[in-house]
Amino acid sequence: MRTGIGFDAHAFEKGRPLVVGGVTIPHERGLAGWSDADPLLHALTDALLGAAALGDIGRHFPPGDSAWRDADSRVFLRVAAERVREAGWEIANVDATVLAEAPRIGPHVAAMTAVIAEALGIPAGSVNVKATTMEGMGFIGRGEGIAAMAVATLSGEGT
Ligand SMILES: [Zn+2]
Repeated sequence: MRTGIGFDAHAFEKGRPLVVGGVTIPHERGLAGWSDADPLLHALTDALLGAAALGDIGRHFPPGDSAWRDADSRVFLRVAAERVREAGWEIANVDATVLAEAPRIGPHVAAMTAVIAEALGIPAGSVNVKATTMEGMGFIGRGEGIAAMAVATLSGEGT
């Protein structure tokens, strides 16, 4: 068994769609970033790569590369899952927490879980997404951005 951890944060920016967990959420601001700036899928991608000792998302999908400009981050998750399997691992489960003061994430958790399960090719029962606020504290509490943390567990005979 192997475990990986991932963390990511993006600042709000006007004029962009808000995408979290592969779900576009109606909101007055989106998140700034080179790709679609999806903090949840980026944290999950890092957790998977980390568990397989394959580095991080920046190594596999460098920011500044025009191929990834405004990219759908589901692609990162799919490719990370492929590389993890190529290295001889199976994805046992993933768990994540989204940290956001607003908008409310809870109503979208089921849709995010379905997106993640599909991208990883694992059952929805092996994917868990949670959300919490920061009780008004810090940059998330002030509504400056959204963060996410994730863990991934792999099983197998990896290289
Ligand atoms: Zn990111």
